[in-house]
Amino acid sequence: MRTVDVVIVGAGLSAAAAAKRLVDAGLETVVIERFQLPRHKICSGILSPRGHRFLLENFGSLPRETLHDPVSCRGVTFHFPSMVSIPMDFFGGTTPHLHRKYADHWAIKRSGAEIHDQTSFTGLQDNGDHVIVQAKKLGEPVEYRARQVIGADGPSSPVIRAIYPEYQQSIPWFFVGQKFHKIIECPLDEQYFHFWFHPDLGHYTWSHARDGRQIVGVGFKRGDNFAKKHENVVNYFSEKHGVRLGEPLDDEGCGENFGPSLINRYVFGKGNVLITGQAAGFLNMIGEGMSCALHSGAICGEAIVEARLRNRPMQEMYRKMIVSEVRRTTDQWNPLKIAFDRPHEADFPAALMELGWRDRARVLRDMWNFVVLYKEFKWGRQIMNAALQRPFIGGYSMRRWL
Ligand SMILES: Cc1cc2nc3c(=O)[nH]c(=O)nc-3n(C[C@H](O)[C@H](O)[C@H](O)COP(=O)(O)OP(=O)(O)OC[C@H]3O[C@@H](n4cnc5c(N)ncnc54)[C@H](O)[C@@H]3O)c2cc1C
Repeated sequence: MRTVDVVIVGAGLSAAAAAKRLVDAGLETVVIERFQLPRHKICSGILSPRGHRFLLENFGSLPRETLHDPVSCRGVTFHFPSMVSIPMDFFGGTTPHLHRKYADHWAIKRSGAEIHDQTSFTGLQDNGDHVIVQAKKLGEPVEYRARQVIGADGPSSPVIRAIYPEYQQSIPWFFVGQKFHKIIECPLDEQYFHFWFHPDLGHYTWSHARDGRQIVGVGFKRGDNFAKKHENVVNYFSEKHGVRLGEPLDDEGCGENFGPSLINRYVFGKGNVLITGQAAGFLNMIGEGMSCALHSGAICGEAIVEARLRNRPMQEMYRKMIVSEVRRTTDQWNPLKIAFDRPHEADFPAALMELGWRDRARVLRDMWNFVVLYKEFKWGRQIMNAALQRPFIGGYSMRRWL
């Protein structure tokens, strides 16, 4: 059995950030990843300015193979049913368009941790002064003994299932699917990520250019027909935006733990097991999760280092330190913050004010109709109520999964 200071489960961006902090502090750290690296990750790869700064400051400048084509993104364009479109540039210029397969691999290698890929976490026992981690490497059982374990293992987190078997039934789930189309004609500006606030299209509808193809993606709830939803969106794009696409060449999809950051169901772990990144619930209103994965991962690593140095309880330290990231992610759902405080690092209020008053009123009406759509979703009423109450309640306490 291998004995180390910390085992991190998952080799995504939250893991890379946590590993960087631990390795820099001199802790022996092993990262286990179920897939062979570099591994595929379904993601648009649009990085916020804060995420970009984090990568530069911690891992250096990005090599070309970590980027898709177009290599950068100027910002986000919101489209509304009234046919008003609002392009918004990121603060501070363009950000890289990450190719997650290679960007994640580059970051985890730069962290300096030891990486064991094709090693799938299967269970753990927390014995108080150490944790035994069980995994399978190419089907063969392997064990690790560590002082701490970090679950940086994404939305369906097997580490959470090991410590809180019922947690995943208590949070909202949402599905996303995307198809990659040959482009015949596409007037949508390829320098932006495009997002539709349109109740007839679905809960989450997006499109952007990647490597000479156009991605068309839709979010849907359990039981919905992805193919039909997607076809409806393609027809709408053609009719309303003049987008002409060839048959899809490929498709993919996954489940997302969408909403824990809004309804305050973050989970940070217990005992010697800490949870971070999207597994912990860090994902914002427009499905952006890389920046908060990086920052929460780094805080998780720092919390372990601090708790060891000061001989303080690990969980208490992590909860104290993670508050700033909780606040930031939660603010990204707050209608008043969005209207006046720019939590998304693009200037929506300024873009809105540039419109004439008629279009402004149309946009606000369209946004309202879109929020109401969430009512029909299993957790929708709770999400909607939380979104509407958010400006009036603090909402930053982590009351539930302490
Ligand atoms: C369609 C789509 C588009 C998105 N677009 C964007 C975007 O444009 N911008 C943005 O900021 N965010 C986007 N996101 C969200 C973003 O991808 C995630 O929030 C982010 O990757 C979370 O990082 P993480 O490190 O927490 O987890 P992940 O990146 O999910 O990494 C978790 C890792 O754990 C591994 N793992 C899981 N189980 C085990 C196991 N049993 N044993 C060992 N390893 C295991 C996984 O294989 C994976 O490598 C998108 C998500 C989707 C689905």
